[in-house]
Amino acid sequence: MLVHKIEEVGANVKEWKKQGFTIGIVPTMGALHAGHASLIKKAVEKCDKVIVSVFVNPIQFGPSEDFDKYPRTLEADVELAESIGADIIFAPSADEMYGEGQRLSNDTLTYVVPPFFFVNKLCGKSRVGHFDGVCTVVMKLFNITQADYGFFGQKDAQQLIIIRKMVKDLNVPIELIGCPIVREENGLALSSRNKYLDEKGREDALVLSKILNNIKSCYDKGINNIDALKETAFSFLKDVHELEYLEFVDKDNLEEKEVADDNTLVLIACRVQGVRLIDNILLNNINF
Ligand code: AMP
Repeated sequence: MLVHKIEEVGANVKEWKKQGFTIGIVPTMGALHAGHASLIKKAVEKCDKVIVSVFVNPIQFGPSEDFDKYPRTLEADVELAESIGADIIFAPSADEMYGEGQRLSNDTLTYVVPPFFFVNKLCGKSRVGHFDGVCTVVMKLFNITQADYGFFGQKDAQQLIIIRKMVKDLNVPIELIGCPIVREENGLALSSRNKYLDEKGREDALVLSKILNNIKSCYDKGINNIDALKETAFSFLKDVHELEYLEFVDKDNLEEKEVADDNTLVLIACRVQGVRLIDNILLNNINF
């Protein structure tokens, strides 16, 4: 069922809670693909009722980012989410989420601001304020849906780690479930932003997973020196790739690693055809 109003979600949630149902929330920005579908499937398996939110959240986009051109495919999203078993697809307008005519700025709106240590690196470095916008909307979705479980992809690893931190620090009564990255057969991590790439771009975009897989196989062979691991990675880059970062951090607290170990999360961000793509791999292959 497609729902646009917070109040209508609330009425359903109230009824479900009365009946003792568990509720899962899968926050998305829409343009759903098999990666999103895997989260929804997990939620349907685990929870009695599942809400999938589809909201291109304006406050998590910087002024020069792709908010306006971000793909919007609500009809197909509803069809896909319902076919998997989602009960509600919650697609609010920005006015519905933040209040009619509300100026979207932290001068006038309450934001949830994650700790600087978690946002002053990786994606947070180039996307200033991005995680404030993410935490604010996710916290609102948790409150609106009163969900018992929240489902997030490991594709956005920094986001998942930051939301875990928010939930812990603010005692949010929800359990978070991290879900593995879904990839195309050739290794490309699925992303709504892949839609911006043409065929050559999709081919060039394979560099991200190739670099990560190469690092993992070097690590498996016993190389744990990060400079050496980075060095092998750079040989994959061509002129068409604008590397933004390649970092080795602790999967729990995002602390920079000096030597690679089983707790190491390797993250990469690279522009291909001007499209900013991200990917990551955990060196011990276990989910986080
Ligand atoms: P988005 O719509 O890009 O904001 O993503 C919504 C959720 O889907 C986030 O928790 C993402 O991490 C997750 N997600 C996006 N792409 C993938 C993927 N390829 N595999 C698994 N989860 C994903």
